[in-house]
Amino acid sequence: MTHPVFPNLFSPLDLGFTRLKNRVLMGSMHTMLEEMPNGFEKMAAYYGERAAGGVGMIITGGISPNEVGLPTPGLAKLSTPEEAAHHRIVTERVHAIAPDCKICMQILHVGRYAYHPNLVAPSPIKARISPCVPNELTEEQIWEQIGDFVNCALLAKEAGYDGVEVIGSAGYLISEFLVTHTNHRTDAWGGHYENRMRFALEVITRIRQAVGPNFILVYRIAAMELLENGSSWDEVVTLAKAIEKAGATIISTHFTWHEARVPTLATMVPRAAFTGVTARLRKELNIPVITSNRINMPDVAEQVLAEGRADIVSLARPMLADPEFVNKARDNRFDEINTCIACNQACLDHAFSGKLTTCLVNPRACYETELNFLPVAQAKKIAVVGAGPAGMAFAINAAGRGHQVTLFESSDRIGGQFNIAKRIPGKEEFNETLRYYGRQIELTGVQLKLNQRVTAQELIAGGFDEVVLATGVAPRTPDIAGIDHPMVMGYLDAILGRKKVGKAVAIIGAGGIGFDVAELISHKGVSSALSLEKFGAEWGVDFNNHPRGGVAGVEPQVEKADRDIWLLQRKSTPVGAGLGRTTGWTHKILLERKDVRMMNGVEYQRIDDAGLHILVGNQSITLPVDTVILCAGQEPLRELQADLEAANVKVHLIGGADVAAELDAKRAINQASWLAAAI
Ligand code: FAD
Ligand code: NAP
Ligand code: SF4
Repeated sequence: MTHPVFPNLFSPLDLGFTRLKNRVLMGSMHTMLEEMPNGFEKMAAYYGERAAGGVGMIITGGISPNEVGLPTPGLAKLSTPEEAAHHRIVTERVHAIAPDCKICMQILHVGRYAYHPNLVAPSPIKARISPCVPNELTEEQIWEQIGDFVNCALLAKEAGYDGVEVIGSAGYLISEFLVTHTNHRTDAWGGHYENRMRFALEVITRIRQAVGPNFILVYRIAAMELLENGSSWDEVVTLAKAIEKAGATIISTHFTWHEARVPTLATMVPRAAFTGVTARLRKELNIPVITSNRINMPDVAEQVLAEGRADIVSLARPMLADPEFVNKARDNRFDEINTCIACNQACLDHAFSGKLTTCLVNPRACYETELNFLPVAQAKKIAVVGAGPAGMAFAINAAGRGHQVTLFESSDRIGGQFNIAKRIPGKEEFNETLRYYGRQIELTGVQLKLNQRVTAQELIAGGFDEVVLATGVAPRTPDIAGIDHPMVMGYLDAILGRKKVGKAVAIIGAGGIGFDVAELISHKGVSSALSLEKFGAEWGVDFNNHPRGGVAGVEPQVEKADRDIWLLQRKSTPVGAGLGRTTGWTHKILLERKDVRMMNGVEYQRIDDAGLHILVGNQSITLPVDTVILCAGQEPLRELQADLEAANVKVHLIGGADVAAELDAKRAINQASWLAAAI
């Protein structure tokens, strides 16, 4: 029967020898569970929950076909039958939970992106983002790599996978053969395009020969590398057609190389930004095509499919955020979806720091065997004070377990600082988190008391068994001479528009909030997260004409701020060094393009009518500003604690109320969730 709301999303896809039950694919993400003790059991639970959540097909995190293809020594590879046996734990669990869910293993050979001395590549050209010069592959070694891909695919089949995905994009080995950026060979594997695509074609042809016709073979193509000397559109089409002919079942479009300087996943990227590229390629092919990147809600996915931009949508991070995404869409409960806000803070930032992947909005991701919200035998009467991320996360999870939870909030709405954050251009997705918590508060029966600055006496009189203080933070006022000058304001005044920001502005403090304030006050027009045209212009991507790599010859066009801005910090480290690993550079580049001046090693001396007086090294400088905005961190707000404890009430502190330093929503929600599971 056709789904009334999402007819395309829930239409099956016939692959000839098999069928996908719907058009949603869980995209590949290496989580580090692969390498943990007991990792395959944990992966079985992790993928099993996504299979139970209704997804049509899963692509696992990347597994190397050999030692030299590993990102770092000791990570997961599949080159022996003994290794294949471990994978059975995963495939059997997924198939037992959802026999109609397909699971394919991604084969990932990282080539010159490896962090070990045995790395290999078509040519000995070091990547900007990796420390070692790769060893140039000999002809014989090239054939060995191809053989290892084939062996890996065969072992995956033996391990019970329904197919494999070969990643031929992102700057990994196969893609390194394709472009002159990394392939300077003069033999049969380099030079003109026919030679450069030979490696990819040999891999696909030989895998297909080895595994037979009834095994899903996905090829992930670099549809737009976002590199000056990436592929031309004709080359992309030529390769895709040849891959189809070589025996691929599906082509999955991928955008960017890791070394490119254009964001493709961050929250500032418009939803479904790259699906137009997939649409163009789809017209050239006869096999199904997958699209991906920033498709985080079912209506977005449905629109992509309805407009014929792809046959399948790949959701990767949204599957971390909510394993039940597909079932919730199917049951028209999309307002219950815990939406991926594209922050990268707990997934990609973790992955690129060697930490276990999880999710800011869903700390259970990759902790499925440890963090569980089990029904309680004895319900407690619990008061939660503060409905910011910490208070909301605690409240819904504790109430979901059966506790009787009352959530007090002094303002007229839930969300705490997320109500501030969502005003920053590029952070519009934070609205989804507020919608999610609002709905969960209703569903779990949390008693929400807005506009109630509750006192300790009221809490004591309320007869609560335990009180959770999630009262957040108060902005810090630094001790600088002249801090009371009328030109000084807090970041809340600036973001909420409570005070007028002038034409020359010094921002004191260059943490996450300092950067956000700089973005807000330097911003003009529509948020680029809401306009593909503006995003393309800001980052120098020509989506319409697709020059080489999508970017060749295109100059980024950023509208300059109409005020002078200085972003200052005392530390001598580079400004922005503490921002998110996979997103910090994007914020920094954008502000630099808007001529925001960043200064480190600053000593604040005084503020007066002439402006802000600072010392940098031995040099005294007066910044001639008419506005100083304080973004100098925060202090915990926990004024209720002492009176409650004096009355022997059991008190818990979570989020900013516990520790304000280095607080972010990831820590707030995570801490709250673990407490809710334990209380
Ligand atoms: P809060 O969000 O501060 O919530 C505390 C709540 O308690 C408030 O709603 C307050 O009204 C209420 N309250 C206080 N006292 C009482 C009382 N006595 N009675 C009743 N209610 C009370 N974090 C990220 O991880 N990623 C980001 O990209 C990000 N961007 C940000 C951008 C901006 C501009 C700002 C300001 C913050 C940003 N943050 C970000 C930080 C993030 O919002 C905070 O870390 C998070 O909100 C902390 O959660 P919390 O629940 O501890 O506190
Ligand atoms: P923060 O990141 O801790 O930055 C505070 C800034 O104030 C620092 O630059 C610090 O640098 C400066 N500072 C601290 N004490 C000071 C003092 N006494 N005088 C002058 N300067 C002082 O905190 P935040 O910017 O307020 O952000 C709060 C939290 O929200 C952060 O932990 C952050 O993770 C989160 N957040 C995240 C994002 C994101 O995109 N991921 C965005 C916004 C906020 P110096 O000490 O070197 O001067
Ligand atoms: Fe999405 Fe952020 Fe969760 Fe990553 S951590 S899955 S980007 S919400």
